[in-house]
Amino acid sequence: MESEERERVIAAYRASGGRRGEVSHVVAAGPLQVVLHTRYELRTHDVIFERAEGPVDYADVVRLPSVDPWSVEHEADIGAAKSIQRIRIDGSARVIECPPCGRTGSESCPICHGGGTVQSAGGPGGRARNETCGRCRGSGNVPCLTCEGRRYVRATPQVEIETGTHISTRVLESEELPVELLIQIGETHDDGKVIFEEEGDPIPMRARGSGYRGQANRVSAPVDAKIEELLSESLFDDRYEVHGQRLEVQQVPVYRLDLAGGHRGWAYGEPPLAWGEKRAILPWLAAGAAMIAAAIGAYFTLI
Ligand SMILES: [Zn+2]
Ligand SMILES: [Zn+2]
Repeated sequence: MESEERERVIAAYRASGGRRGEVSHVVAAGPLQVVLHTRYELRTHDVIFERAEGPVDYADVVRLPSVDPWSVEHEADIGAAKSIQRIRIDGSARVIECPPCGRTGSESCPICHGGGTVQSAGGPGGRARNETCGRCRGSGNVPCLTCEGRRYVRATPQVEIETGTHISTRVLESEELPVELLIQIGETHDDGKVIFEEEGDPIPMRARGSGYRGQANRVSAPVDAKIEELLSESLFDDRYEVHGQRLEVQQVPVYRLDLAGGHRGWAYGEPPLAWGEKRAILPWLAAGAAMIAAAIGAYFTLI
């Protein structure tokens, strides 16, 4: 560790109430987190139903041809922010039997729910009584909202293209860290210092396009195992195309300080904050993590 960083950690540790005394060592103590950024393109399709214009051409009533979303030519702009574009395939539009009403041209009345009657409130002291539904005039049915009673609709296939960056994370806990400190870190840390990064096109397997498995011996065996775990859980089915990926190993800012007299201190966060000794916190463990967080400030002893 650079002496500048060491001095900064010690100063911040003392300023936030850490134990006084000579510091012999400052060690970056993790934990590490493995972060995978995936730039993706997701294509799905659906159908827009609209009122059919003009006379219905009965000969034109066919099942809608299926559209492969990946056959649509479109240059997707892949950025960090999620964006959605919809492309109508007008050339594949057909007049078909109206799916929502099943070609009946009518649907159940939304007021009386098909019963044809509604309950009136009744006059003062009078009893409620059934009245004919004004909306459907007692028939229980109203014209289908989709086809407006025509029984046929114009159906246009549409491809939806979503692009963005998916971020998935795995935390590698450092074994020597006190459990209570890990709880505290889990509530506060966000990004860490990047100690390793790799850019691939694309990194995981089973994605559309070529597979890339990265290199062996990236950081250390436990980190590599976490990376493999993350990659195997970050698979994308064939609705996706992976345009590129970035793998990062970040060190969450936690430092161990070795002090005179065999004492140990911990500093975490950015800027670093002192964290109390394990023995002082233990009685509070039974009271739950929330209480620990509230009580930490009270446990620093200044020598
Ligand atoms: Zn009705
Ligand atoms: Zn209809």
